[in-house]
Amino acid sequence: MTERIPCIREGCANTILPATAAKTGGYCMPCKQEMEREERQRYIEAHRRDVNLYAGITDPVKVLKIMHEPQVRDPLIRYVPYEQSKEQAYLSLAAEQQDEMKDYAMHRIRTGDEDAGKDILLYLVCYHDTSLTAEIPELLEQEIYYPVILYKSASAAVRDHLLQQVNTDDENRNHILLMLAYIGDDVVVQQFRQWRQSPPSWRSELYVAPEHYTTEAGWELRKDGQRRELFITPSYSLYKVKENKETSVEVSRDSFSLLTPSANCCPWCGNELTTLISLDVKHPALKDVSWHAQQLHIQTCVICSSYGVVYMEVDAVGEPLWSSHNVMPLGADEIDPDDYVKLAQDVGRQFRIATVSRRAFHASEWAMEPSLSQIGGHPGWVQDADYPTCPRCSTRMKAVAQLDWGEVEEHGEGMYYMFICEPCQMTAVTYQQS
Ligand SMILES: [Zn+2]
Ligand SMILES: [Zn+2]
Ligand SMILES: [Zn+2]
Repeated sequence: MTERIPCIREGCANTILPATAAKTGGYCMPCKQEMEREERQRYIEAHRRDVNLYAGITDPVKVLKIMHEPQVRDPLIRYVPYEQSKEQAYLSLAAEQQDEMKDYAMHRIRTGDEDAGKDILLYLVCYHDTSLTAEIPELLEQEIYYPVILYKSASAAVRDHLLQQVNTDDENRNHILLMLAYIGDDVVVQQFRQWRQSPPSWRSELYVAPEHYTTEAGWELRKDGQRRELFITPSYSLYKVKENKETSVEVSRDSFSLLTPSANCCPWCGNELTTLISLDVKHPALKDVSWHAQQLHIQTCVICSSYGVVYMEVDAVGEPLWSSHNVMPLGADEIDPDDYVKLAQDVGRQFRIATVSRRAFHASEWAMEPSLSQIGGHPGWVQDADYPTCPRCSTRMKAVAQLDWGEVEEHGEGMYYMFICEPCQMTAVTYQQS
């Protein structure tokens, strides 16, 4: 038997055959490979160069076209990111530039790059509420059924066509129902009403009744068959200011505050309750909200509401009060608040409310990574649309705000959704994560 010899690399305990040693210069194979990897890395670091695809470019259309161009992966190239996010670049588009991007998206679709084209259209629809009335017939011709929000602005002719197709197209029925929900005009509302009265033959192939699909587009059929909106508008972004950029202008904390600890504790886990949002009812975001107190407070236990709905009521002086309707979710009695990260004292003070409103569907496509935290606007559901039911009146509650927990805690994730029932003066908080 040949005697094995030790690998010559310092700190390595492996032994190798003399034949291997002759090939590798005395190193074992793992060491040899490790050294080669290190050498490659040294070479990359020494030769890597910065490439700025945006150098000298200021036209946002050109910037966005570059952003939507697939980048060649090359370890020797470090791409310099653009100074603005994709979201900011889209928001800076003037009307004719939006049209230019729309044409570009259609061009990408026609030349076989459907995904890029759909993405561009999606950004335009969410951030600018761009009308695709003229483009929709072509999208359908290309058998594009997703993202359904693109069909919001379909013409009456397309709507009528979809109302026929939904009866026969088993394969795309789900998407067509959602498209119709987004179109949501009187004719569509009437059709959903009819389906509720006398379910169509294809009802048995769906998991939920057809009229349930409307909630994905942010509305429901009332008992009397009318359309009822499930979220408030306008939408105002809640954005975080950079910590080192703490402005000298002290925002009035009375009219707006975020994430303030409460003196009250959660009856389930004992953690202190948190007022996620407190906003003066005179703020334009709440112009259509009928709230009896001067301030809308939405309070919850941030731990327990990630397990189930937490309802709060309003006491005689407008302060939030733990609701007697709350039903402890499964597992909540085993929660130990010490297992959870304590909220940083001042985190709420880093947030501002935008001075200008944005589009109602701005944050609705969660996966596009828009700025998600907001008051008003269609929720950015991480999973399916899920409006809690008011425990007093059994109606779906209206979405009023959401907080992206990734912005709140360093390793935070998921989203807290806030709801109200105006007739009952109740609030609710739910949570979803991917
Ligand atoms: Zn070795
Ligand atoms: Zn709790
Ligand atoms: Zn109610």
